Amino acid sequence: MSLVTQSPVWRPFTQHALQPGAFKIARAEGAWLEGEDGARFLDAISSWWVITHGHRHPMITQAIREETEKLDQIIFAGFTHEPAEALARRLVALTPEGLDYVFYSDSGSVCVEVAIKMALGFWRNRGEARARILALEHGYHGDTVGTMSAGARSPFNAPYEPLLYDVTRIPFPAAGREQETLDALERACREKPAALLVEPLILGAGGMLIYGGRTLAEMKRICEAHGVLFIADEVMTGFGRTGTLFACEQAGVVPDIACYAKGLTGGALPLAVTMCRREIFEAHLSPERARAFFHSSSYTANPIACAAALANLDIWATGEPQARVEKLCDMQEMRLAHFAGDKRFSNVRRLGVITALDLTVADKGYLSTIGLDLMRFFNARGLLLRPLGETIYVFPPYCVEEAELDLVYEAIDEAAARFG
Ligand code: PLP
Repeated sequence: MSLVTQSPVWRPFTQHALQPGAFKIARAEGAWLEGEDGARFLDAISSWWVITHGHRHPMITQAIREETEKLDQIIFAGFTHEPAEALARRLVALTPEGLDYVFYSDSGSVCVEVAIKMALGFWRNRGEARARILALEHGYHGDTVGTMSAGARSPFNAPYEPLLYDVTRIPFPAAGREQETLDALERACREKPAALLVEPLILGAGGMLIYGGRTLAEMKRICEAHGVLFIADEVMTGFGRTGTLFACEQAGVVPDIACYAKGLTGGALPLAVTMCRREIFEAHLSPERARAFFHSSSYTANPIACAAALANLDIWATGEPQARVEKLCDMQEMRLAHFAGDKRFSNVRRLGVITALDLTVADKGYLSTIGLDLMRFFNARGLLLRPLGETIYVFPPYCVEEAELDLVYEAIDEAAARFG
């Protein structure tokens, strides 16, 4: 496939001195990316976790085409449009009951940033001095200053440390250590923080770390008992990845604020929402303009993106994605069974359609060379996999077929023989 090396483009999360080239993709369809020369990559990580049904689902493509005939960006203060209104109504009906208001933005980072700002605005407008955020150890919530602060301190954000605010870290509820997490949360809640921010059931960029629904439900219960707002960052988990439409459903948890992004348009266009309970919206109602919620981006509620999201919800309404997700969970489980007890790996795990395995190597961590070595190894076999250091994970779109998934796991087996 043609590789672009001379380019003014500065790519994200890329050390250009070590990764000077990028594969140039000309077409995408289903689970596949294709270059101008016809060479192909199987997209086994859903293009950074955004593609749900597959690339260029015809219903979404059609909705985008139709909307471009009617609207482009419309200022979203003082004006509205039907795609945004219809989408908000549908999201309120679809998400856990009680999430009654929808604030639009355009990326996962920003919708979490908005959630944090909503929480602080809520307490300030109620006249309570609560501003501290609690967050899970190893969490990742985005790359804006507010979300980096809430995320784990890591090589990703070390250069920006002077900008980051302090948060209280709650230990990750590793299997067998859940009580430690709950005790730490209980203690932290006594200090009257503003909110707890969590990725429900699985921490993504922190290493695909899975924890149980019972712990999630307990965390919510503790927050509720102390009046601490519970923010669910469903940016990665939303739209089927954990086996249910939203991860919180599995624990019967209704967050006070929930963040959805990546799969909202099926991956076709950038769009995000922060949804909240009525009380949080109403705390911002006042004759004083200073109590309004001060956040906006130019592309708030882009009508074309909203139309794509509506088409995505239409697809979910057919029941077909749910069936595909269920089948993909089984397909993933079957392949993972092959690695159970394999000494070359540890922590062989699955949640919903996501699987992850830690390759047993001496040199560990995101900045170790193993992550890049593995990525190159998979790329050379026509596979888009992007291990997090020694953690290899498979996060395919729901259209992936058995034989395609076999290609992925055969390559993982080979990679273990080579690097493990
Ligand atoms: N929150 C979680 C849980 C994520 O996994 C991500 C991205 O991976 C983000 C927030 C940030 O989303 P975005 O990259 O769209 O800003």
